[in-house]
Amino acid sequence: MGRRIVLLPGDGIGPEIVAAARRLLEAVGGFELEERLVGGASIDAHGTALTDEVLEACRAADAVLLGAVGGPQWDTTDPTAPRPEQGLLGLRKGLGLYANLRPVKPSPALLLASPLREERIRGTDLLVVRELTGGIYFGASGREGGRAFDTCEYEVAEIERIARVAFDAARDRRGRVTSVDKANVLETSRLWRETVERVAADDGEVELDHLLVDNAAMQLVSEPSRFDVILTENMFGDILSDESAMLTGSLGMLPSASLGDDGGGLFEPVHGSAPDLAGKGVANPLATFLSVALMLRHGLALDEEAAAVEAAVEAALTKGWRTPDLAWVGSETPPMSDLPAEVEVGTREMTDAVLAELAV
Ligand code: NAD
Repeated sequence: MGRRIVLLPGDGIGPEIVAAARRLLEAVGGFELEERLVGGASIDAHGTALTDEVLEACRAADAVLLGAVGGPQWDTTDPTAPRPEQGLLGLRKGLGLYANLRPVKPSPALLLASPLREERIRGTDLLVVRELTGGIYFGASGREGGRAFDTCEYEVAEIERIARVAFDAARDRRGRVTSVDKANVLETSRLWRETVERVAADDGEVELDHLLVDNAAMQLVSEPSRFDVILTENMFGDILSDESAMLTGSLGMLPSASLGDDGGGLFEPVHGSAPDLAGKGVANPLATFLSVALMLRHGLALDEEAAAVEAAVEAALTKGWRTPDLAWVGSETPPMSDLPAEVEVGTREMTDAVLAELAV
């Protein structure tokens, strides 16, 4: 029997990109695919963004692939109303997924798609390791009259385990961790910094430096190639990884893996449900395909198949296939470049182009 993968399409463009990923997984072959509701779609059907039954199905699966959740139809300021994001946070907490890995390596074919200058991006190959189940997204929050609060808390053990993930990853890469915090202002950041220092001392091999988050945000665009592994807490990682997506040309290019100590993990593109594109057939499916590659490698230990998916994505881009978010505006041939002419296509054609290159 094949490995069991739960597909959670979610909302907005989620169903379109997960349908494309289903075609990719069927082409790789050997999986049992089971589709379930999460986010707004689950609120509409069951009144909650994540049912116990779906959480259980995800626990029992070998890996989970998620599209995206959310949309204006579920936006409300009523604190008692269910919200699509609760589905995502519930999955992360319920599956113990404390480590979020976001590799950022611009495709050589897309150096002109980024708003940043080509020579700045060249050589960028970084990994954001974001803590995913602590910090301000999970602390006490509420309202008291005209006052609202969100609480940021971290415990030593939470920081230690995510730091170890970053140091392990760095050892297989270029051996450098940059820990990002706001230690000049926040007490949680001072605990973060001293704990990371201790883990580094125990490790003894990996080189560690620290950056304040505002400086890190600046350096990500001014000198992205200086980074190897960026280790950071939940909210800083959320923001910095969207910023680093633009090094790859589009939010539609960035994959992620969410891992815990048990189970295969949850894999999803970094972007949201893009309500502005939903139903138009133009969403970029490549971040989801690259998330499938991370799932094959980290969740299912299928390294060869993972590499084949990544190579197929690169080959399709090299041949010039572009969804609108990647296309060179108003130009068929990128200026001053030996890249091929670009062909602007929708989700289905981009999927066809990747499948045509897939060698498994
Ligand atoms: P978004 O990531 O959905 O979109 C930001 C911009 O990027 C939009 O212009 C969108 O068109 C574009 N974009 C995103 N994915 C794309 C793709 N695959 N191909 C081409 N273009 C793409 O962020 P947002 O607009 O701030 O949020 C929309 C909804 O998504 C909100 O409800 C938000 O809460 C939710 N959200 C969900 C997740 C998640 O499920 N992991 C993450 C972020 C935001």
